[in-house]
Amino acid sequence: VPKISARSSPDYIPDANFYKVEAILSCNLALLKMGIRGVTVSDVRGFGAQGGLTERQAGSEFSEDNLVAKVKMEIVVSKDQVEAVIDKIIAEARTGEIGDGKIFLVPVSDVIRVRTGERGEKAERMVGGRSDMSSSVSPA
Ligand code: ATP
Ligand code: GLN
Repeated sequence: VPKISARSSPDYIPDANFYKVEAILSCNLALLKMGIRGVTVSDVRGFGAQGGLTERQAGSEFSEDNLVAKVKMEIVVSKDQVEAVIDKIIAEARTGEIGDGKIFLVPVSDVIRVRTGERGEKAERMVGGRSDMSSSVSPA
C-alpha cells in the first residue's frame, strides 16, 4: 500500500519530475525571500473543519456568509525542491491557530514556457530562482 505522506516516502506517488505546491493560507508570504520566482496567487474563500466559525466568530450554519477569505498560492517546482518549499511555507505561515491553512501536492506532467517553447526543466528554471540560489554551478 503506497504511503500518501510525501514526507514519509522517498518517492512521490504518482511519480513526476515537477509538483505543484498548492497552499491555501490565511496570509500572503514573502515568497521572493524564499527564492520563489514563479508563483500564481489567487484570492479565494473557503472553510475547513471549523466551518469558518472560530475564525470569523460569525454565523452558526454553513453558508456562503461564513466562508473565510484565504490566499491560494500555486508554486510549481522540480521534485528536489518540493520539501524545502513546503518547509518554508510552514515556517512562515504557521501560527498554531485554527485556519493556518493546508498544502496540497499535485504532480505536474510538464512545464512549457510560451515565449521560448522550452519544456521540462529548462522551462521550470527561473533566473534568480532556487536553483541559482542553492548552487554556484550553473545548470546545464
Ligand atoms: P518568461 O521568461 O517568458 O517571462 P517565465 O518563466 O518568467 O517566462 P511567465 O510567462 O512570466 O514565465 O509566467 C506567466 C505566469 O505564470 C506568471 O505570472 C505566474 O502566474 C505563472 N507562473 C510562472 N511560473 C510559475 C511557477 N513555477 N509556478 C506557478 N506559477 C507560475
Ligand atoms: N525551480 C525554479 C528555480 O530554481 C524556481 C521555481 C519557482 O520559483 N516556482 O529557478
